[in-house]
Amino acid sequence: MSHDPLGRHPRLVAVIGWPIAHSLSPAMHQPALAAAGINALYVALAVAPDQVGPAVAGLRALGFLGANVTIPHKQAVLPYLDEVADDARLVGAVNTIAVRDGRLLGYNTDVAGFLSHLQEEGVAVAGARAVVLGAGGAARAVAVALARAGAQAVAVLNRTRERAEAVAALAREAAALDGRRIAVGAAAPADLEARPWLAAADLVVNCTPLGMAPATGETPLPPDLLRLLPGGCTVYDTVYRPATTRLLQEARDRGLRAVGGLGMLVHQGAESWRYWFGRPGPVAAMAQAVRAALGESDG
Ligand code: NAP
Repeated sequence: MSHDPLGRHPRLVAVIGWPIAHSLSPAMHQPALAAAGINALYVALAVAPDQVGPAVAGLRALGFLGANVTIPHKQAVLPYLDEVADDARLVGAVNTIAVRDGRLLGYNTDVAGFLSHLQEEGVAVAGARAVVLGAGGAARAVAVALARAGAQAVAVLNRTRERAEAVAALAREAAALDGRRIAVGAAAPADLEARPWLAAADLVVNCTPLGMAPATGETPLPPDLLRLLPGGCTVYDTVYRPATTRLLQEARDRGLRAVGGLGMLVHQGAESWRYWFGRPGPVAAMAQAVRAALGESDG
């Protein structure tokens, strides 16, 4: 065990994005590395969009164990990797790179991170009828996760309906990979067709940025739609700033179970450790570190 994380030969891990200054990842990982007694340095690297290829190759050249990848590079890194895991290929995005035996391997730990958090919270996915709000990167990871974990139905509601249809098709494809058929649906939230999906939902997951600070007065499910959810429904918000979004507050006011997305952030980070260090990160230490960082930045 090292008490010298900045010692002579720390292992190196990065997060690459553009811009990168607001990433919570260094604040989450570095204290966790210290807590785990791993002599490694986790650095935030700003990588301009036209430098993604050289930056990924540079991880190997410079002897990094790997990296996290954040906005806007999660898709852009794919062509520069030697191998991309199933989940990452399905989602179309890599958030974790590991350098192993000189090979660059790509993973998407949002999928496993989301499921680990649901499991920690005791939210069942197998057999559930799920509704995903939004159709961007987070929605793709959540839809793949739900389909692979045995949801019986996944409906995607998004203001741009074609994008909802693409994510619904992705959920079907992900279930088929495991040899299962699931019911899928796609609509805009305001469409009449959205209503039966909401009325039958066991789990609703917000994957839009609506409600995120500073626009905390927004919600992806206006009261007339929230009212449709049955009593046993769990409402999950991938937005974690603030910890209790308007959606979660209104769900709680209705007596529904409401879960915030900070745990997804922590668990995706913990899952990344598997590929760098061969074991998951210490979830409690990471959660504590990220809460402290959010507290500071939120004033
Ligand atoms: P994204 O790719 O930009 O997708 C955003 C989605 O939200 C799109 O489907 C978009 O609809 C919809 N949307 C955006 N503004 C909207 C509005 N004003 N009204 C209705 N719909 C709107 O973003 P993303 O990467 O998926 O991230 C979405 C959110 O997920 C982030 O803000 C973040 O808070 C959260 N997230 C959390 C975690 C975690 O670990 N907890 C991880 C990833 C993301 P269109 O398709 O019509 O444009």
